[in-house]
Amino acid sequence: MNLAQIRDDLEGAWWHYIRVNDFSFLQTIPDLSDLQMNEGDILIHKQIKEGERFPTIRYHLIKNKKSLIIENEEVKEILANKLVEYVKKNKSLPFACKVVKFFKNGNAQVNYSPTQYDNFALKINPKAHKVENLQSFFEGLKSDPNPIKPIKTEKEPPLFKDQWIIRSSADENKTYIVTKNKDGSFSCTCPHHVFRKAECKHIKQVKKSLS
Ligand SMILES: [Zn+2]
Repeated sequence: MNLAQIRDDLEGAWWHYIRVNDFSFLQTIPDLSDLQMNEGDILIHKQIKEGERFPTIRYHLIKNKKSLIIENEEVKEILANKLVEYVKKNKSLPFACKVVKFFKNGNAQVNYSPTQYDNFALKINPKAHKVENLQSFFEGLKSDPNPIKPIKTEKEPPLFKDQWIIRSSADENKTYIVTKNKDGSFSCTCPHHVFRKAECKHIKQVKKSLS
């Protein structure tokens, strides 16, 4: 599927992909014009709008080979269903999932946190998912690694006209966003820049690629 042709009210190339059958998470999509997806998979589109610090987010569900905009709540419902299916089949927790809480009414909360910015709190209801006891259902289960490895590209893809995704050299599952501001200065979402206002290596990398 060609992601560049998918329309919502956001612009730019900042997309993530969740393969729902195994909770694979692709943080950077190397070629937007050609992403292989299955029915029921989820795309996340983000854009930091001008003057805003946090991204606006849109969720897309792949249905009948088309993309359908859905709400965050629907994403969580889909993932909750898939999580229970996955545990029944594999006897392990999917990638980036952690059981965080059991409630008195028998429900459980499982967090799916594929990156430091992306977190989905999944509510599991034993009756709805035909599980007798969630505590024993989840007991002792470990979370699997990301089934799809981040795909390395020669150059990190440009996110938008003046924004770039830079992969962390320390942890390939982490990426940072470098923005060229209107006044010509650069900012980055990494802690080194955010907390110390330093010109981090991500900014240097972008500047180098522009020169
Ligand atoms: Zn940085």
